[in-house]
Amino acid sequence: MAALHGQQNTFYIPFSVEQEISKYMFLSLPMEACGVVLGEAAAGGIRISRFQPIRNVAPDPLHHFLLDDAEWIRCVFNEPQLIGLFHSHPRTAPVPSIEDLRNLPVFAGLLQAYLIGSPELTSETQPQMILNGYQIHTGNKRSSEPEPNAAYSLHPVQLRVT
Ligand SMILES: [Zn+2]
Repeated sequence: MAALHGQQNTFYIPFSVEQEISKYMFLSLPMEACGVVLGEAAAGGIRISRFQPIRNVAPDPLHHFLLDDAEWIRCVFNEPQLIGLFHSHPRTAPVPSIEDLRNLPVFAGLLQAYLIGSPELTSETQPQMILNGYQIHTGNKRSSEPEPNAAYSLHPVQLRVT
């Protein structure tokens, strides 16, 4: 039998929450949308229970996101179930950018889940969101890479809408 290398995690997200994120993302276009997700670690993955939008205060919100400090800090202190970060890529695929990876240490110590959404523009009547989930991994001390942020990395996980 093959050895298991790490656990195969899944993010479970209720349909209503997925719809809420999607609606917020489309309403925010053409700007990037951001927020946090609440939930808890469960057997085999993470169960997301809520989405909390946070104002994007980036000077150039068309191409960047920056969480409003006050709203973010309120979440950190008042939401014990804070578990993940969401932001959108209005014009590109929902995969982490170089900048996303560079900014990871800002959130990584507090969060486990990283979600990126993009509009799928194939259907004009009912645009859908493509949502990707990544697990934040920490403390890869054995890595000899000179990468400054090698302490944190993002690993794609299966996202299941329930
Ligand atoms: Zn991004």
